[in-house]
Amino acid sequence: MRKGLRKEKVKCQCGEWTEPKEFNINGFKIRGSECPACSEAYFNPEDANKALIYNKLKNEVLTGKVAKSGNSIVVRLPKRLVDALNLTAGSTVTLQLEDPRTVKIIV
Ligand SMILES: [Zn+2]
Repeated sequence: MRKGLRKEKVKCQCGEWTEPKEFNINGFKIRGSECPACSEAYFNPEDANKALIYNKLKNEVLTGKVAKSGNSIVVRLPKRLVDALNLTAGSTVTLQLEDPRTVKIIV
């Protein structure tokens, strides 16, 4: 599997070699590199794809089903959301009650 562009230099379309850089786009960290001559940016494809999925999900209203599990109540999250957040079964998240109808889940 490809490890990304962190340690790679890419030959820019202008002929210069790029420098590794971590971009921050809308709070999302994307590995890549940038050309010192023309500022052309090259993004790690995996990171860029994750950022795209994240941005798409951000503008959607998703629903989660409430279910009973023993004495607890569980909220089932859509698979697309789980994948985008890299959530795995058994991981711990932080829950914060924002107002009487809003709970924030911090992963
Ligand atoms: Zn360039």
